[in-house]
Amino acid sequence: MYKRQLLRSEHLVGGGRYVEYKTDDARLTVEVLKAAVGYGGRAVNYTKAESLVYHNGKVVGVEVRDVLSDKTYTIRAKKIINATGPWVDELREKDGSKAGKSLHLTKGIHLVIDQAHFPLQQAVYFDVPDGRMIFAIPREGKTYVGTTDTNYKGDILEPGVTVEDQDYILEATNQMFNVELRPEHVESTWSGLRPLIHEDGKDPSELSRKDEIFVSKSGLMSIAGGKLTGYRKMAERIIDMVADQFKTEENRIYLASRTHDILLGGGHPQGSKGFARYLKEQQPKGEALGLSPNEATWLIQRYGTNVERVYELIRTRGDEAARYQLPLHWFGALLYGLEAELVMQPGDFLNRRASAVFFDFPHAEQYADGVLALMRSELGWSAEDEARANESIRREFDAVRVKGPVPLS
Ligand SMILES: Cc1cc2nc3c(=O)[nH]c(=O)nc-3n(C[C@H](O)[C@H](O)[C@H](O)COP(=O)(O)OP(=O)(O)OC[C@H]3O[C@@H](n4cnc5c(N)ncnc54)[C@H](O)[C@@H]3O)c2cc1C
Repeated sequence: MYKRQLLRSEHLVGGGRYVEYKTDDARLTVEVLKAAVGYGGRAVNYTKAESLVYHNGKVVGVEVRDVLSDKTYTIRAKKIINATGPWVDELREKDGSKAGKSLHLTKGIHLVIDQAHFPLQQAVYFDVPDGRMIFAIPREGKTYVGTTDTNYKGDILEPGVTVEDQDYILEATNQMFNVELRPEHVESTWSGLRPLIHEDGKDPSELSRKDEIFVSKSGLMSIAGGKLTGYRKMAERIIDMVADQFKTEENRIYLASRTHDILLGGGHPQGSKGFARYLKEQQPKGEALGLSPNEATWLIQRYGTNVERVYELIRTRGDEAARYQLPLHWFGALLYGLEAELVMQPGDFLNRRASAVFFDFPHAEQYADGVLALMRSELGWSAEDEARANESIRREFDAVRVKGPVPLS
């Protein structure tokens, strides 16, 4: 039992309880896509929009590259929405419409520390002397701390965490909490870029953190900025705009967006209120399949009501898990990912389906070979596929390592 008071009391004046603080953004994105497909949408994965296709000056399609097969093809559509986050301006530039407002990227990083070294039980938000705000958040046996907010002009794909970024967060954490965290306590990291909006002629200090929509002469609609918490509102705004355009152009009437009432994949019919009961109901069913209570919880929390399909996969094929040296919950999650979540690369599974690269790095390393072997057997890879799969793991593992010289401690 951990007895030490974690918050340094000399800084403590008062506190409030912070309740809205945690999401699995990759899972949220996958579940939004699954819900969209359930309503008749079509989703493609591992596909990069490389150029825009025009007819009479209007954008009518996108030339895309399937990055696994390296084949290109065209997707045609009446309306094209560019929702590519920090890359929004790359497509606007290709459209010749990057003018007036443009993106200003700032980098934010997080560090992940095992609870053995930072046993935080409740999310804490605090200000640091330079005026920035930092969050320390417990999750699945780890605590993550972030974030920084520094101007960024480098490679968008992998901003990375530098020694300087790491030192900044460690120092701020050690000042606020009764811990002595050092670089060797950092188990994993991640970095991201905020697409803030800069308006020509305005001072950089007037950067906007709000979301905005830009519609170009060609009809390309770009949406950028904002917050993850506002994703439904942003989607509603742009889809209602598309509906208005169809009304004017084709006299077609669509009902207003119903996103507010749409449950995501795995959502319980009674929403979060029904979840505690559902968890209690499903846990013994998982244990009956040979899962430990923690493993069953891991699955139920990730998949919600879809856990029943994962259980079915464990029930029918669970005896194969030992062959791949995978624990049952990972085995079920991977089979489900292959069946229902378009997972084609082990690095993708380890990071964006199992959320292990950030939040359980030791197990991501331990099970990587098993994940690779099971995917090889399920997908029947060529030597080229195999090399790409290995590369996907290397890329994910490299991305979490702190860049730059290791400081003398
Ligand atoms: C450090 C940090 C902390 C944050 N904290 C919070 C927070 O606490 N709360 C909150 O609500 N929000 C937070 N945000 C903001 C939140 O992450 C963003 O609002 C959200 O990710 C934006 O979603 P998006 O889909 O617009 O863009 P993204 O999440 O960036 O997704 C864009 C997608 O487009 C894809 N893409 C790019 N180019 C192409 C192309 N040519 N072809 C095909 N696909 C392409 C990318 O691969 C990516 O998957 C934070 C952001 C950062 C960086």
